[in-house]
Amino acid sequence: MNPERFRVELPRGAVRTHGSRSLWLQQELGQPEPSEHQPLAGERTTDVCIIGGGFAGLWTALELRRRAPGTTVTVIEADICGAGASGRNGGFALTWWAHFEHLVALCGAEQAVVLARRAEQAVRSIGEFCRDRGIADAFHMEGWMWAATNGTQVGEWETTMRLIDACGERPYERLSRAEVVELTGSAQHLDGVYERTSATVQPARIARELARAVKEAGVDVYEHTQARALEQDGKRTKVTVPDGSISAGQVVLAAGAWAARIPEIGAGLVVVASDIIATERLGDRLAQAGPRPGLCISDGRRLVNYYHATADGRMIFGKGGGTLGYGNRVSAAFDHPGRRANGVRAQLLRTYPGLWDAGVAERWSGPVDYSLSGLPFFVRLRELPGVLVCAGFSGDGVGPSRLAGELLSEMVCDGGTAGLPVALRTVPRRALPPEPIRYLGGRLVRAAIARKEHSEDHGLRPRAVDRTLAALDPTGYRYKPGASER
Ligand SMILES: Cc1cc2nc3c(=O)[nH]c(=O)nc-3n(C[C@H](O)[C@H](O)[C@H](O)COP(=O)(O)OP(=O)(O)OC[C@H]3O[C@@H](n4cnc5c(N)ncnc54)[C@H](O)[C@@H]3O)c2cc1C
Repeated sequence: MNPERFRVELPRGAVRTHGSRSLWLQQELGQPEPSEHQPLAGERTTDVCIIGGGFAGLWTALELRRRAPGTTVTVIEADICGAGASGRNGGFALTWWAHFEHLVALCGAEQAVVLARRAEQAVRSIGEFCRDRGIADAFHMEGWMWAATNGTQVGEWETTMRLIDACGERPYERLSRAEVVELTGSAQHLDGVYERTSATVQPARIARELARAVKEAGVDVYEHTQARALEQDGKRTKVTVPDGSISAGQVVLAAGAWAARIPEIGAGLVVVASDIIATERLGDRLAQAGPRPGLCISDGRRLVNYYHATADGRMIFGKGGGTLGYGNRVSAAFDHPGRRANGVRAQLLRTYPGLWDAGVAERWSGPVDYSLSGLPFFVRLRELPGVLVCAGFSGDGVGPSRLAGELLSEMVCDGGTAGLPVALRTVPRRALPPEPIRYLGGRLVRAAIARKEHSEDHGLRPRAVDRTLAALDPTGYRYKPGASER
């Protein structure tokens, strides 16, 4: 008998930023970029191979060595550690309380509280890591404001607050309008609720320091080493890289949005760009016309605006829903916003009109792996059960990836489920059409959401056709009482 050898091809195109790095990475790397971790050449054997040097992969590596010090661990990263979403994000380390609605719908209230508390602890742990590693300046726990910047968004949080209240938890404070305006530094904020346990971070500083900590913990870290294929090799998995291969007892695929090209995983994901601009340093002006430094602010629109003021006096302003990936491909349009940056700046000026003449110093983008459930999932590939995949952070992965590291390392060491409910161990499914209809339909829906939100900003009732199309957003999952609670 000739046993069938299963093989999963990973994207053949090079995973890299097309010549652009985020402000965070530029600050951290300087020019020329140092080569801290060499590429892998030749054949290697390891107990666990982690593919992806973002937060999810690196926290998993660190946790694995802590939990099972005798385990050999190898991390391979196609570009440099932190080159993906982890070094390009908006710098918000948030908890899962804002996702409580999703958590309850997927796992029931009891499990939802356990997971939300663990996600809250994850944010604190990131702060401890920064203090222990001498990069305390990369972490500022000033809290998060969930704000309304138009009338439609007022009270967006009520379902979430009610569900949390019912469980006896109190992560949020209700603020008066005057308090919201004072904290955010802008009268465009009509209302909001405030959560204490959230932080702004310099994400690239943390990612790069994390890679160093991982190496010091005894992990082999290889950069510029892209996994090309995964293949069953007896009881082991062979990971093919351009100049060699790794024979691994288990594989953790923590490749963020790039994992969406594997059809089994991509079925549960929609890959969408998020775009960010950073102003020049504004010094005292920001103290008068900006938010409290370090405070995270997001508004309640679907194409979310998220922003904060850095300690060195810049305004960072990000916007979700930038562009879609055809066939979930991460193309060059995911590295730089191009003309989309004008739309992001327009939102900055709408929110902070006093910054009308602030120059934009940097702009960048990155791919977000939106899951159809709104939460990440942790699954073993059907045909290669030695490969554990984590994807779908849905734009809120900086804090939760710390928790994911704990969960993935537990799953690897014990071979079990880490106590995760079935819904988080399954690829979320929804009937989506095949390409090119999926891509074209996605663009239509995205454009309708943008028009709807534009009308709402001007106090107008959106057109019926836009409301109808916007409601088709497959990632716009909302809790329906009793619908799927278990
Ligand atoms: C613009 C933007 C803004 C965001 N803002 C926030 C925010 O403010 N707060 C928040 O919580 N979350 C935010 N996110 C999401 C957050 O950054 C991520 O969810 C989080 O960093 C976890 O990322 P990850 O480790 O799953 O993936 P990544 O950081 O993308 O890491 C995956 C890594 O895998 C590598 N890779 C891919 N394919 C291969 C391969 N075949 N072989 C080897 N390596 C491979 C990639 O190069 C990449 O470095 C944002 C994301 C983006 C893009």
